[in-house]
Amino acid sequence: MYDALTTRYTFACPRQGKTRVRLSSFRHLDRLPGAEHPAVFQVLFACPCGEEHPGLVSDAELDWAPLGLGEERFFNLMTARLEESTAELEDLAAQRILAGEWPWSFYCYPEDRPRPVFPSSFFLLAPGDGSLGLAVRCPVCERVSVNLVSHEHVDLPFHNDREIGVLPYVFPADADRMLEEFRAELDSGSFDARRLSLD
Ligand SMILES: [Zn+2]
Ligand SMILES: [Zn+2]
Repeated sequence: MYDALTTRYTFACPRQGKTRVRLSSFRHLDRLPGAEHPAVFQVLFACPCGEEHPGLVSDAELDWAPLGLGEERFFNLMTARLEESTAELEDLAAQRILAGEWPWSFYCYPEDRPRPVFPSSFFLLAPGDGSLGLAVRCPVCERVSVNLVSHEHVDLPFHNDREIGVLPYVFPADADRMLEEFRAELDSGSFDARRLSLD
């Protein structure tokens, strides 16, 4: 499903049979109610055939597969600890996380600070002028921020843009209005620059 070598997800395409896309080609992620282990997300992705199709991914495929990690470990964002047995700490990705490097990060506008995050907290993505508008639900304060980042910032774990754009705007909680306002605000293009250093 996710291939770490090419950093691509495989999905069904009604025209081409199978298609492979990067995370930055996702347009919408919606966590399905009910399933917990694993949590399942319905995604809408922009296919190379030119259309958008739906697909399903688990939280492990979103958050752990890009790091080459299995489903059995999890990272506790509240305590900033990888909750894991010692044997698995040999893992390079695990070592980098424990050394304070973060696979993904974003700038939480309501809290006015950068935060570590995992892709399962991303929920709207929209390509713009060579960059990507990204709506993130903060894992700590649960409010929504919109960042303007590079494609690599999303697609490549441990590639964090040094500086990103932040929309100076607190988003409404309800999903339908949010989608509308996300599009409207992206078009308005009034982003503030913020440094993403988590140190
Ligand atoms: Zn297609
Ligand atoms: Zn926050």
